[in-house]
Amino acid sequence: MIAQGDLGLLDGFERALINHRLHLAYQPKISLADGTLKRVEALVRWDDEALGAIAPSRFVPLAEKHGLIDKLTQWGLRTALRQWRAWHAEGIDICLAFNISALSLDQLDFPDLVERMCRAFDVPTERLVLELTEGATQPLIKLMDTLTRFRIKGIGLAIDDFGTGYSSLMQLRQLPFTELKIDRFFLTDMIRSKDSRLIVRTMIDLAHGLGLSVTAEGVETEEQLVMLRDMACDVGQGYLISAALAPDKLAPWYAEWKKRWPKLVEKRTEPMLALD
Ligand code: C2E
Ligand code: MG
Ligand code: MG
Repeated sequence: MIAQGDLGLLDGFERALINHRLHLAYQPKISLADGTLKRVEALVRWDDEALGAIAPSRFVPLAEKHGLIDKLTQWGLRTALRQWRAWHAEGIDICLAFNISALSLDQLDFPDLVERMCRAFDVPTERLVLELTEGATQPLIKLMDTLTRFRIKGIGLAIDDFGTGYSSLMQLRQLPFTELKIDRFFLTDMIRSKDSRLIVRTMIDLAHGLGLSVTAEGVETEEQLVMLRDMACDVGQGYLISAALAPDKLAPWYAEWKKRWPKLVEKRTEPMLALD
């Protein structure tokens, strides 16, 4: 049974999808070693005329539940790959991160489809990273074959929102991920709590030990950025750096960011780093 409110939302979403009224915004991810722009994460946006902006956390689960997720994924991937090519033509050479619902990975031929799409838009597969969050019903370990196929094609794989779901250390070791994204939940009280700092540092060290690159999500303060840098976290993403941007705002943002970066990292927060 689908609730009345959800039915209206689902109907509106399907119409927005068919009539090309969704768009993507791109959130920068920067190297915490030197501040350079490493990649952008494509995030779907739906601004409905009547309802206003609707969060993906409301409509993505509906799309998953009612058979629209593959359409959303294919539209989004095509749009993001086309945008990558436009940036590349302007001399912006970055990786593209794209969120994939675990449900889309059920089809064994999905990696071939993604590869064909990359080829159609002249995007080297090494420039694409798929971000996966473990669904409540489907442990990622069941998707081992599909994930391995992506890696054979050179496509990167990130485990998103790490630490909030079922994702276990054992799965991290067994599955062919290239990147771990620490959920922003762990960053929120990292400044105040020694335990939280210890957890974040342990996740970073563990991921590095397994050969994964680490991204911290939800970097909102200068203190968090400096601390993560000291912990050798590789990549930062969050409102301190930038919210998700319209494609034409990326280059102006980066020009400003390059001026901001040296001022951010010259501040030190040594005493806060103590773990014992
Ligand atoms: P996610 O992949 O973990 O994306 C990060 C979310 O955190 C985004 O929310 C982003 O706007 C938000 N965020 C970024 N920096 C900060 C920060 O410093 N503080 C806080 N509080 N939040 C921050 P958004 O855009 O609402 O997306 C929510 C989730 O929806 C995403 O989580 C992802 O799981 C899903 N999603 C978004 N776009 C797509 C898509 O195209 N396809 C699929 N399947 N899922 C998508
Ligand atoms: Mg993500
Ligand atoms: Mg996330």
